Amino acid sequence: MASEKEAALAAAPSDAPTIFDKIIKKEIPANVVYEDDKVLAFRDIAPQAPTHIVIIPKVKDGLTGLSKAEERHFEILGCLLYTAKLVAKQEGLEDGFRVVINDGPQGCQSVYHIHVHLLGGRQMNWPPG
Ligand code: AMP
Repeated sequence: MASEKEAALAAAPSDAPTIFDKIIKKEIPANVVYEDDKVLAFRDIAPQAPTHIVIIPKVKDGLTGLSKAEERHFEILGCLLYTAKLVAKQEGLEDGFRVVINDGPQGCQSVYHIHVHLLGGRQMNWPPG
């Protein structure tokens, strides 16, 4: 299994369907922790913290990554962050948590469907790797 960094460097930035589309369509299983009409949140398959949840928009609308954001994405970007707050509360992360959006090869992005990582349940370090 390639490391997260190797997976990110191997992934070509693209607007093609990703594994997250299959999760949205329920074609492959995911451990869903939150869902509404706009967003889906599920546990990361390779957790980097005791709690590691990925939050995605159900409709990508060209938003392969944050660097592709346009004005029309204001609302969904807000929804993703607000969902991170809701799920953090649901997961009992009262002592704090981290949200991360990886963008592009150098940002270690491996799936080109924008997503927010919600990480918690342990002490985080700074600077990040
Ligand atoms: P990124 O590297 O920021 O693009 O994050 C993509 C994340 O998606 C990684 O943390 C992967 O572990 C996670 N991931 C990939 N496939 C799945 C899957 N089938 N179910 C849950 N998480 C996944």
